Amino acid sequence: MEVELTRDFRFEAAHLLPEVPEGHKCRRLHGHSYKITVEVSGDVDPESGWLMDFADIKEAWKPLHNRLDHYYLNEIDGLENPTSENLARWIWERLEDRLPLLSRVTVHETCTSRCTYRGPA
Ligand SMILES: [Zn+2]
Repeated sequence: MEVELTRDFRFEAAHLLPEVPEGHKCRRLHGHSYKITVEVSGDVDPESGWLMDFADIKEAWKPLHNRLDHYYLNEIDGLENPTSENLARWIWERLEDRLPLLSRVTVHETCTSRCTYRGPA
């Protein structure tokens, strides 16, 4: 039986997008209440009856929360151009070692706009 487990996390951060055209609103310094959805997928262990412990997903996320929450994203190594796309990949690269079953990272920049990364092709 194959399943997907997802867990949501939240953090607040400021950013600006240096590569958008002059005059674009995203070039101005602003903040987001980001929501990150982390998904792992695989086969349920018939003995335990679960794929993995949700608490282990939270543990894997914790250092990223500490690095991102209430920071200016542009100042973080690898996030000089902190689009949702680049942020999703940046998060993926920092979670994949701790979460071998990682299958999807979604960055919700607002309630209505989000970007999903499924890892390198
Ligand atoms: Zn923005």
